[in-house]
Amino acid sequence: MKLIRAGKPGQERPGVIDSAGNWLDVSAFGEDYDEAFFGSDGIQRLSAWLEHHAPACPPIPEDTRLGPPLRRPSKIVCVGLNYAAHARESGMAVPSEPVLFFKATSAICGPNDNLVIPRGSRKTDWEVELGVVIGKQASYVEEKDAMDHVAGYVLHNDYSERAFQLEQGGQWVKGKSCDTFAPIGPWLASPEEIPDPHKLELWLKVNGELMQQSTTADLIFGIPHLISYISRFMSLLPGDLISTGTPFGVGLGLTPPRYLKPGDVVELGIEGLGTARQKAIAYGT
Ligand code: ZN
Repeated sequence: MKLIRAGKPGQERPGVIDSAGNWLDVSAFGEDYDEAFFGSDGIQRLSAWLEHHAPACPPIPEDTRLGPPLRRPSKIVCVGLNYAAHARESGMAVPSEPVLFFKATSAICGPNDNLVIPRGSRKTDWEVELGVVIGKQASYVEEKDAMDHVAGYVLHNDYSERAFQLEQGGQWVKGKSCDTFAPIGPWLASPEEIPDPHKLELWLKVNGELMQQSTTADLIFGIPHLISYISRFMSLLPGDLISTGTPFGVGLGLTPPRYLKPGDVVELGIEGLGTARQKAIAYGT
């Protein structure tokens, strides 16, 4: 199952992409893709409902704006330095335990919305990442049980302002949380769509030039370990997003470093999770 949400910002309606690739409005199911939905086997219930109701679901025109494929979750937990080559290009050691940080959920936007370069930014950077959406509350979860807690997977660009992140003291959260710094989607793929999330190609281009190309096979800490590990420190709630880290090829790691400016176009994708495209604009324009 592939879940989408389509419509104007804040007014998105839930939909699905059917096996023929059509976008269907499933508002008549009566639920949005939020904590209550994911926490009550919503994907399975929606799938059963569609067996009878799909023919009556109105099509969504494909020029409709896509929003993020889930309602704003309680938190985004990001994993830093989870690919060895990216840790090296960042000038940091390969971590012995997962590096965790938060990203404000107000940063979430649709997959093809503009990237707003924040006021005063000089170092806005890109990070293609595999996102894991939680389907069942997780606290003190064993690794062997961790995958039972996954509702699905999404494409995420963990935009990062490197000066805010690294040069202004304190935690990374300042450089990770600006509005539009978390485009998510196009769709949320349920686990049966992604038989092996540790074997997905992922890539990112800036103005058509390939900057990142890797595979989730190179994750240092895999998804079961991340869910189990994070759940030692906090409860993961249904709908929460874990962003699993970015591979080699961010602007920070180039010589000289390269950052985004208004007019730049960022395209990215992950096998099975679709593609997204963001145009950079200046704050206030
Ligand atoms: Zn990241």
